[in-house]
Amino acid sequence: MKIAVLREADGETRVAAIPETVKKFIGLGAQVAVESGAGEKAGISDSDYKDAGASVAGRAAALKDAGIILCIAGPDPATLKGAAKGAMLAGALDPAHRAGDIAAYAKAGIEPLAMEKMPRITRAQSMDILSSQSNLAGYKAVVDAAAVYGRALPMMMTAAGTVSAAKVFVMGVGVAGLQAIATARRLGAQVSATDVRSATKEQILSLGAKPIFVEGVAGIEGEGQGGYASETSPEYQKAQAELVSGHIAKQDIVITTALIPGRPAPRLISDAQLASMRPGSVIVDLAAEAGGNVEGTSPGKTVVRHGVTIVGAVQLARTLPADSSALFARNLYNFLSAFWDKEAGKVDLPADDEIGKALRVAVTEDAVG
Ligand code: NAD
Repeated sequence: MKIAVLREADGETRVAAIPETVKKFIGLGAQVAVESGAGEKAGISDSDYKDAGASVAGRAAALKDAGIILCIAGPDPATLKGAAKGAMLAGALDPAHRAGDIAAYAKAGIEPLAMEKMPRITRAQSMDILSSQSNLAGYKAVVDAAAVYGRALPMMMTAAGTVSAAKVFVMGVGVAGLQAIATARRLGAQVSATDVRSATKEQILSLGAKPIFVEGVAGIEGEGQGGYASETSPEYQKAQAELVSGHIAKQDIVITTALIPGRPAPRLISDAQLASMRPGSVIVDLAAEAGGNVEGTSPGKTVVRHGVTIVGAVQLARTLPADSSALFARNLYNFLSAFWDKEAGKVDLPADDEIGKALRVAVTEDAVG
């Protein structure tokens, strides 16, 4: 089976295969064709791919007879002319916002596999693009906050006096939040964190940070399906707001990462709470694209309100293209190799498999038109 690796559209820095995964696909018996220039922004040259055993060509030649097409973001369907009928297209296809493109792929006979729909089961952990990219985003959020913050993070005792440690508060302790805690700790900050899922308390403690939790209020257990958060009770939200108000006024850097699948991001910091913070404090809002955890967040922009700098972080994984490409590419390899039929030399994704069911994006007759 031939695998085609696309060069992404402008604005995307990542690439869906790296020389390591190219070699591994070839080891399974596949041929790999990489679109010329695909790895440029991630520091991978055409000759690196050739050395790994891939052919490098223009898009039309790379697509010809490919049974699998790999991408980061779903390509414009018009650019897939010439792709073989029945080819699978795997990447972050964003079906929630790009239903028209999904329908167009299907109409062209291409099977869209939306990798962000990977189920949260143990078997699929190594295939999960949301986790691998969130982990890097959590790291980068702290690095970006440190770059904007006008002071140092660690405590320093110098001949000229003592610099006190920055206080960092992480709100939402999923994959990104855990990495943000670990990164802030490594930089020497005093770290605290909160979440609606009480299971995260242990994780916060194990990273050497202080858990800040609402106790003894109905609706405290905000753990929903698949380990995701669910909406909390109004009593819980009120208690959480009071707790946060007291705590936040003493923080220097806040990283917010709270998301609830299928809903706008919960509002965790109001304008009044912002006003209680010390001027010069910094907030990085990783939920900016989902509406923001902070009142006044603007996705992709940095704004200052009440003297507090709010960074509306968007797609932070793109700012680390070499690492984010490597992890994304390994997620794709781990997924495809798990369903590789060695005898037939191709991917066999059974219709009744939990992973296959989740990734296959339903396209209604109407949408296909
Ligand atoms: P996410 O990106 O959906 O949300 C980020 C965090 O925000 C979550 O921890 C959530 O509980 C928290 N949150 C939501 N509302 C909040 C509020 N009002 N106040 C404070 N915090 C709030 O989460 P995620 O990073 O995708 O991870 C969620 C869980 O799923 C984690 O336990 C993670 O380890 C698990 N997970 C499992 C797999 C797997 O098994 N394959 C893969 C990925 C994640």
